[in-house]
Amino acid sequence: MQHDKNVTATIGHFIDGKRVDGGTRVQPVFDPATGFSDKSVALADKLTVEQAIASAQAAFPAWRNTPPLKRARVMSKLKTLLEANADRIAALITAEHGKVLSDAHGELQRGIENVEYASYAPELLKGEHSKNVGPAIDSWSEFQAMGVTAGITPFNFPVMVPLWMWPMAVACGNTFVLKPSERTPSSTLLVAELALEAGLPPGVLNVVNGDKEAVDTLLTDPRVKAVSFVGSTAIAEYIYTTGCAHGKRVQALGGAKNFAVVMPDADIGNAVSALMGAAYGSCGERCMAIPLVVTVGDDTGDAVVASLKAEIAKMKVGPGNDNGNDMGPLVTKPHFEKVKAFVDAGVEAGAKLVVDGRGVKVEGHDGGYYLGPCLFDGVKPGMTIYQEEIFGPVLGVVRVKTLAEAMAMIDAHEYGNGTCLFTRDGEAARWFSDNIQVGMVGINVPLPVPVAYHSFGGWKRSLFGDLHAYGPDAVRFYTKRKTITQRWPAAGVREGAVFAFPSSR
Ligand code: NAD
Repeated sequence: MQHDKNVTATIGHFIDGKRVDGGTRVQPVFDPATGFSDKSVALADKLTVEQAIASAQAAFPAWRNTPPLKRARVMSKLKTLLEANADRIAALITAEHGKVLSDAHGELQRGIENVEYASYAPELLKGEHSKNVGPAIDSWSEFQAMGVTAGITPFNFPVMVPLWMWPMAVACGNTFVLKPSERTPSSTLLVAELALEAGLPPGVLNVVNGDKEAVDTLLTDPRVKAVSFVGSTAIAEYIYTTGCAHGKRVQALGGAKNFAVVMPDADIGNAVSALMGAAYGSCGERCMAIPLVVTVGDDTGDAVVASLKAEIAKMKVGPGNDNGNDMGPLVTKPHFEKVKAFVDAGVEAGAKLVVDGRGVKVEGHDGGYYLGPCLFDGVKPGMTIYQEEIFGPVLGVVRVKTLAEAMAMIDAHEYGNGTCLFTRDGEAARWFSDNIQVGMVGINVPLPVPVAYHSFGGWKRSLFGDLHAYGPDAVRFYTKRKTITQRWPAAGVREGAVFAFPSSR
């Protein structure tokens, strides 16, 4: 892509503890609040990514043998530095993503909690030990670092999602190459520099900006042992199949279409205020956002639609760095056009557009990618606004008669990331959470994003692989189990050769 004439700086990579250039291609980075670009990002070529992998490979032996407690102390120091630099980091997130500052701070806080959990790695790596599995024989399992590991992350959480991955990977003794989204590179790089300041040796964490060329290098290089991915489903599936075909361990988290169900007995006021944040927070650009509300019973549907309409009327849309605003712009112009086209398609398919955000204007920000909150009623299976992930501020109401009907719809959808139920009935809640085919479930909680000491992951086409992201699953994902059986006989192997299969009998 051509440089914009206003572009004055190019954002490079972070390899071996230093900011470096690399790659001849560049891409502009836009401020979505204004549509203006004054910087570009370098897109790493194969050679640059190979340099990052070589740096991680060289750093591995010493880092692997660094006592886990010393590695953990780096995480504790990083937590302090992230907290001290929170305003700077949040400002960079907002400048490139567009989300409001309070939301950027929330993302950072969730990321910090993952750093905090990674600082407990020595406890989590203690392994399993059994004495006397046979006469004078002890056996134990230990969890060894894999080597060079890699992460590929999406634009919508440029700080939090990388922090789901590399802190636990390096706390377990691995080294890491991170390929963040080329749309939001600056905050991710700042966090990597803070890790160096916290004491992470050069080469343990490397960051390469780039696109498919960089990703394909990571997926095919034999030195990379494990790959974590978060992004859209089509790319997640590609990452999973390509990485596995090259002998790597892969976890690839994909897209979503999360349903909220509102029961006739729910507290409608509470449900609607929860839904407002879940549908329109971060402009709907969250994999745990709620784009569909299923109302059980017509009275519930009428009450929810009326209440949502009234709440939407109070919302303020504008630049994310103005604390008075509830919702910022979409991330890029092409994404803005795509979301707007979904709204057009919904109208054409016959859904009723109760609130139309397409005409929203933000004074003094004509070039920004603003779409106001949109609300549809009468959304039905088969419509594109029902089937596809929109990733924008578009909420659709689907009306059904029973909870069983709502659950059948959720189970039939290709995605299974998150869902939630609003009710006062404990038995219905228990039935729902026990049976629904979705990986993360909320009861009167609209965004059931697990805390850092649980793990995060969806079902069906929302996740390829078996282990979920962060939490206890991350310790397993970034380590190889080795089981050692050891015997120290008093005077050599006294019994001589044994030909039966060994057992504790
Ligand atoms: P994306 O799939 O376009 O990009 C994700 C990453 O893949 C980026 O680093 C990008 O550079 C890279 N990439 C893009 N095209 C590629 C290609 N052809 N080959 C190789 N690599 C490629 O996703 P996005 O638009 O940045 O993020 C939004 C998506 O991420 C949504 O679908 C959202 O649901 C999903 N997401 C999922 C989760 C989750 O936990 N399941 C969390 C956040 C976001």
